Amino acid sequence: MNARILIVEDEEPLQVLLSYNFEAEGFVTRSASNGDDVEVLVEEDRPDLIILDWMLPGLSGIELCRRLRARSETRDIPIIMLTARGEEQERIRGLATGADDYVVKPFSVPELIARARSILRRANPEIVAEVLRVGDLAMDLRTRRVTRGGRDINLSPTEFKLLEHLMRSPGRVYTREQLLNAVWGRDIYIDERTVDVHIGRLRGVINRGREPDPIRTVRGIGYAFNERFAG
Ligand code: CA
Repeated sequence: MNARILIVEDEEPLQVLLSYNFEAEGFVTRSASNGDDVEVLVEEDRPDLIILDWMLPGLSGIELCRRLRARSETRDIPIIMLTARGEEQERIRGLATGADDYVVKPFSVPELIARARSILRRANPEIVAEVLRVGDLAMDLRTRRVTRGGRDINLSPTEFKLLEHLMRSPGRVYTREQLLNAVWGRDIYIDERTVDVHIGRLRGVINRGREPDPIRTVRGIGYAFNERFAG
């Protein structure tokens, strides 16, 4: 089951960036760029978590947070506030209003996603997938333990992320650019050959002896993770 995230942010590039990155991580997102629309959106389809910008046209993030907390139907929805204000007083005010967490702009998107995941896990452990399994490979996202046929596999953080991304959508073909965006982030420039290097390393650690290679090279395009592989 995919957790549903409502992103409330009036800066369009940031809204698009967040939505893209959350979707790439397996979340289902909806977006609003105006505080006034949020209560209706939440009523129509209750999200599992709200990312809420502090400064919004119309109803401000902080007022919205207060209103959502005041109603019994929306009281329990976790909220992460985005704020440009780094002042200690403002942070305290944000949390006092009922936000579960806050991040100060500019922030790292992977960090925000990690916080969202941890809040969702606390609120509803079933909603966040804990173990990914494909073939004889298993990846525990909570303990970060990866095994193949029961044998432990040690991965670097980048290789872990790359494998996680591939295992989340078995069969799907990714271009090098899509993998770069998903694993290294969208806003930094890295040569596409970096992906090949890391795929090579990943194969080196997950495949032993005659074990079949679950990673498929799609010539001229990129890579995919085989849905079914013997082993
Ligand atoms: Ca704003």
